[in-house]
Amino acid sequence: LSDPLPEALQRHRVPFDGRFNVHELSSDPPSDTPPKKELEDELDDLVDELDELQRRLFADERFAVLAVFQAMDAAGKDSTIRKVFSGVNPAGFRVHAFGRPSELELRHDFLARVAQRLPERGRIGIFNRSHYEEVLVVRVHPQFLTAQHLPDVDPARVWDERFESIRNFEQHLARNGTAVVKFWLDISPDEQRKRFIDRIEEADKNWKFRLGDLDDRSRWDDYQVAYQEALAATSRPWAPWYAIPANDKRYMRVAVARIMVATLRALDPRFPAVGDEQRRELQEGLARLQAENGGG
Ligand code: AMP
Ligand code: MG
Repeated sequence: LSDPLPEALQRHRVPFDGRFNVHELSSDPPSDTPPKKELEDELDDLVDELDELQRRLFADERFAVLAVFQAMDAAGKDSTIRKVFSGVNPAGFRVHAFGRPSELELRHDFLARVAQRLPERGRIGIFNRSHYEEVLVVRVHPQFLTAQHLPDVDPARVWDERFESIRNFEQHLARNGTAVVKFWLDISPDEQRKRFIDRIEEADKNWKFRLGDLDDRSRWDDYQVAYQEALAATSRPWAPWYAIPANDKRYMRVAVARIMVATLRALDPRFPAVGDEQRRELQEGLARLQAENGGG
């Protein structure tokens, strides 16, 4: 059997040359998807390896990892984040959810609030929604752009300018040791409809449903265009996008976990080498401790 991990970095990856067509994607899992039990076992293994890799990342002190999650409502962002990172030391990662900006946030440039929540070296930072809302929801609902009080907005250029700002921002992060990896959980409209109905019919899920979610659903095609353009313009070698089929949660979680593990492995984080001085200290420490109980 071939190792699926290096392949995971190619599969579902949005091309870097801008050629990306959302209509060519399927939200259903690929035909070679392993059966349920195998997916569950694989996820368990990946979750463990992610924990091990994060420990190395922390000891290595050179890199941070930023994982961005974007999707239509009910695609499973929250549960995917919960499952994939369930084995990682809680001190080793942090999740930030970005909702509607506050009055104060609106007074800053559109990257300011994410810039304040970036992971430090050794950590995995997870963005549940992100600066990409600024070229998605803000694009589909232009009143959000108006609320930003920007000078001289040219509607014909503003989105390309934002893509350029985002590319530059993420390249800056990458050059400074933050590996950026971005996931679009791609659900189909039919599957979203089923999940919304579940949220209405199952009491435990009622809290997740807001009538306003149907407004975004009614703008589905506009969102698809916005996703296509944003992903095509910002998937680059230093910050790749992955379009993950999201109709089957088990497959989606494994696909995300494979990419996370492969991304961390590619950084090759290492425990720092022990130098001569430290080796001498280790030996001296051992000698002293052994001397305490008579040399045993
Ligand atoms: P949820 O993730 O379901 O709690 O919803 C958060 C809401 O905040 C979503 O409807 C997002 O589209 C919205 N949101 C996030 N970022 C922005 C932004 N920059 N401008 C306007 N709305 C946003
Ligand atoms: Mg919502």
